[in-house]
Amino acid sequence: MMEVIENPKREQWPLFTKRPTVSFEEQLPFIQTLFKKVQNEGDSALIEYTSKFDGVVQAELKVSEQEIVLAESKLDSELKNAIAVAKSNIEAFHKAQRTRPVELETQPGVWCASKKVPIERVGIYIPGGSAPLFSTVLMLAIPAVIAGVDRIILCTPPDKMGEIHPAILYTAKLCGVTELYAVGGAQAIAALTFGTTSIPKVDKIFGPGNQYVTSAKQYASQRGVAIDMPAGPSELLVFADQTAVPQFVAADLLSQAEHGPDSQVVLVCTDQVILSKITSEIYAQLEQLPRKAIAEKALNNSRILYFSDRKRAAEFINSYAPEHYIIASEAPEDMVLEVRNAGSVFIGNYTPESAGDYASGTNHTLPTNGFARQYSGVNLDSYFKSITFQRISENGILNLGPSVAIMAQAEQLEAHKNAVTVRLEYLKRNKVASNAYDISKQIRGHLRSSSVYSAARDEFSSVFDQYLWLDANENPFPNGANRYPDPYQTALKQRLSELWSVSKEELFIGNGSDEVLDLLMQLLVEPMQHDVVTFAPSYGMYQVLAEKNGIELSSVRLQEDFRLDWNLLEQTVSSRTKLVLLCSPNNPTGNVLDADKLILFLQRTNSLVVVDEAYIDFSKEKTLTNRVLEFPNLVVVRTLSKAYGLAGARLGVAVANPSIVGWLNKIKPPYNVSETSLEKAISRLADFTVIQREIEQIVNERIRIERALEACEWVKKVYPSEANFILVRVDDAASRYQQLLDSHVVVRNRSSQLGCENTLRISVGTPDENDQLIKNLN
Ligand code: PMP
Repeated sequence: MMEVIENPKREQWPLFTKRPTVSFEEQLPFIQTLFKKVQNEGDSALIEYTSKFDGVVQAELKVSEQEIVLAESKLDSELKNAIAVAKSNIEAFHKAQRTRPVELETQPGVWCASKKVPIERVGIYIPGGSAPLFSTVLMLAIPAVIAGVDRIILCTPPDKMGEIHPAILYTAKLCGVTELYAVGGAQAIAALTFGTTSIPKVDKIFGPGNQYVTSAKQYASQRGVAIDMPAGPSELLVFADQTAVPQFVAADLLSQAEHGPDSQVVLVCTDQVILSKITSEIYAQLEQLPRKAIAEKALNNSRILYFSDRKRAAEFINSYAPEHYIIASEAPEDMVLEVRNAGSVFIGNYTPESAGDYASGTNHTLPTNGFARQYSGVNLDSYFKSITFQRISENGILNLGPSVAIMAQAEQLEAHKNAVTVRLEYLKRNKVASNAYDISKQIRGHLRSSSVYSAARDEFSSVFDQYLWLDANENPFPNGANRYPDPYQTALKQRLSELWSVSKEELFIGNGSDEVLDLLMQLLVEPMQHDVVTFAPSYGMYQVLAEKNGIELSSVRLQEDFRLDWNLLEQTVSSRTKLVLLCSPNNPTGNVLDADKLILFLQRTNSLVVVDEAYIDFSKEKTLTNRVLEFPNLVVVRTLSKAYGLAGARLGVAVANPSIVGWLNKIKPPYNVSETSLEKAISRLADFTVIQREIEQIVNERIRIERALEACEWVKKVYPSEANFILVRVDDAASRYQQLLDSHVVVRNRSSQLGCENTLRISVGTPDENDQLIKNLN
């Protein structure tokens, strides 16, 4: 009678999770000699071992085509039909394991991919001996064929007559095995490892076997051949609760026990009554089995454990890590959820291990001896190598290189660092980030080849006074505005380049910054094909311009406090996105973007990023005006309408790489800025200290108004501003707007903008005007 262990303590578990195995070391001397002999003598050594161990002297190791064809006629059609059912299920389940290749641009310019490539030659070992395991042929050959393995070489020992069981031959042919050899035991493994005259060397060996075969596979794995997994005798653990059917459980346990005398079966039961019924069933059924002697021996290695607690039983099972695990229960779900270590799990009273052994579709080559803790059973991936690929562009190495160099430096691997830095320096010397963002590649197709209107004054933009002008059909009598203006606004650019410390070539002047934004859209964004990304709430004109140009504008919603979620922005920007519009300080919220995050984004994105700095002069934040040469994908848009006090002159500026300025010049209207505006701007900018003082006063006044607003009872929230306006949330925007209007104060109701319900935007006026506003806040 098998002993029942009741509620074993955790310290005892290692004792009960042990398997009856022979150690590799014991067999090592024999295996070493055998491998050496096969390596040196090849086929003749194989013939010698076969005669010694299998008792037959062979003339030929390769199984002839004739024998294989003959095998088919020796099988009855019932078996052939059963094999066909199994084959179809196994094929379906393993085909479903195919995966797509992975391809990812991990950061701009850095592409990584992985692709599975089949192993070229695999060896399948099918044990002979007491039972012809043709089911293992199905399990090991079918996935090999699906994976696309070139050569599938099967070795199996011959019987005393020198023959192989017809079911093995038939199945091998049916499943696409390419070569068959009548060689078994450790010598077959040695032959597949080194190759002989008859038997080819393989890349990976699959299949079960006795302890010699197992040790030989382990030895082979140290000699340049991969193996499916370390193997040991087969094993089954059945969990049975009060809803298990004793008859079924006993049959399952015996099905495993009959495999071999070294098989192990374990019963974990949570019900004493069921437990004793199962043990009596085992002995009743054992009597009926033809392989009773084998099964009986196996039962001696086996054990029965009783656990009063189901959860603890599950923990024990995970620590045992069974090859096959049956959950014999009408309500198996909780136990399924607990599975951490197992080769294959059979769920419910109607799922015998035999189903998976033969025909349900899953593979029956599984990790034994507790290896289910870290190994998987044979599956489609067992026949593949996964190869990774990567390709880095010039832009990519500029992005990624610095991180690699820093890490290599920290590991003190100078040569590693060098492999990056030589490339970075080469690019700096020769390319000046040429590939980083190339505006000429981004321009809409029809503009690349379009001809540009050449205005009469184009060629003479900066030498107006030296010639007699009879080229533009103007009225020649001077009145201050009779001539067309300078199309490239040279004098104003000269002044701005001094004020902002940039070169004139980095400046483009438009009729208001609205025109600059409009031209950028026209230059880059193809209707229906591309999109523009911004965040909301922001400057309403972005939407108007996008609509006017027939372009889709995607807006990332700002968070509760009007801060930008940069990850969300990155997710929204796609390869379709040609422009990203970022307003900072933002209108109407008044807050600025995080400068570090903005730089990081600039480095990572492939789109042109427009930072609209209309209000930057009121802010503590630094302008990006001086960084456009560093970032070829950056355009800083500024306006003279706000801090510089020139709204009436309609002057906006793009500060950008000269190549971008060049493209804007090509598509702008010929004389987009009037002479009057230019003159006004030049005289206004002559003394910048005046402007500076006004800005300081506006900021101080803003602070004064903010305080007054905070004290106002109908103002619910004053959003902190770095601009010359303040956004406030009020109790009822429509009525407060009307209240101020009645006192002749016009503010802007922004309630219709996303996230701006019940808000008013109030511009800072002169001190007198602000007094009037503050007076009317009650
Ligand atoms: N950008 C922002 C954020 C604005 O608020 C404005 C005007 N309200 C502009 C650009 C347009 O300015 P301009 O007068 O230069 O067209």
